[in-house]
Amino acid sequence: MERAAVGKLSEETRCLDRAMGLSWGRNKPARRFLPIVLPWLAAIFYLLTQIHGRALSPKLERFEFCQGHMGTQFRMILYANSAAGAQAAAETAFTRIAQLDLMMSDYLEDSELTAVGRQASGPPIPVCEELFRVLKKSQVMSKRSQGAFDITVGPVVQLWRRARRTAELPDPARLSEAMALTGHRKMHLYEQTRSVRLAQSGMRLDLGGIAKGYAADEAIVLLKKRGITRALVAAGGDIVVAEAPPGTEGWVIGVASLNSQDEPSACHLLLRHSAVSTSGDAEQHVTIGGIRFSHIINPKTGMALTGRRRVTVVARDGITADALATALCVMGSVRGLQLIETTSGAAAQFEEESETGKRTTISRRWSAFPKSCP
Ligand code: AMP
Ligand code: MG
Repeated sequence: MERAAVGKLSEETRCLDRAMGLSWGRNKPARRFLPIVLPWLAAIFYLLTQIHGRALSPKLERFEFCQGHMGTQFRMILYANSAAGAQAAAETAFTRIAQLDLMMSDYLEDSELTAVGRQASGPPIPVCEELFRVLKKSQVMSKRSQGAFDITVGPVVQLWRRARRTAELPDPARLSEAMALTGHRKMHLYEQTRSVRLAQSGMRLDLGGIAKGYAADEAIVLLKKRGITRALVAAGGDIVVAEAPPGTEGWVIGVASLNSQDEPSACHLLLRHSAVSTSGDAEQHVTIGGIRFSHIINPKTGMALTGRRRVTVVARDGITADALATALCVMGSVRGLQLIETTSGAAAQFEEESETGKRTTISRRWSAFPKSCP
């Protein structure tokens, strides 16, 4: 049976050769045509398989899901070929985000992160793989940003959270006590035992500037495992995108304005396999004595940032974009954009407001992005 089939195939091949005036053995001019004809045949074959593939693959539909986690709304847009498949994938991703929230929240008394703080000044505490990964990345970002990004600002963040609720500035004595309990060099990580040690009792970690980007990365990983390759996960101002929506070049992402994430965007980015994070004082701030204080802290002074600014960072993954956006708010445009230029694949747009008006600064790679801006 098999022999017959092979024989038939070779017979047909010979017929095709003859029809095209080709002969494998003796005819030399025919051999000269071969390099010209073969690429054409390959191209036609490729086109036919593409058309055939499209005709067979079911049409993808757009689905959208929303759930509250980590103190913000997580939104997922994904393309799937059935509502049941989309729902199941989104549920898996939301469950993962909820687990990460339980692990990394500094609001929850029983989170793994809070447990690390409780045992500060004690021996190293083993932590789970995901938490260790985020702590390691935080440490790298602290070094790269010369301390502008620092998750040990926890005790100071606590005082400023209270200030936002009461509209009263933190007591200077308490602020300097809290400052004495900060410093990224006081957090020690031990790779071999996957453990962490905080040097002083009273230290407290805060992953508010990095965990949402990481959670969005993880959600995308899970969606892909479920076969969903065209997806967007947005955790407030931290967005991660996978492959573009069907028939498009990328996801259209509006760049937030200086004033609010709800204001219509003047500038849109076109992104795929990428992450974009925005940080600033638009959403969380308090005005005391006519001065507007942001929720982002300068770890060198313990003061909440003042002066209007908004930073949008594009990076290869959510964890990097999230941490960089927070760091850049503290560093300012000059030092901040230097950090961006030395981060592979990263770009940023920096918007500041001063007495002289609004000023927008962009990094080198930002100008090369596909986007629509006035
Ligand atoms: P984001 O909105 O991503 O810029 O993160 C802001 C949150 O990060 C704040 O609400 C704090 O919980 C935390 N945070 C504040 N200042 C810093 C800082 N300098 N480095 C790291 N995290 C910070
Ligand atoms: Mg951030």
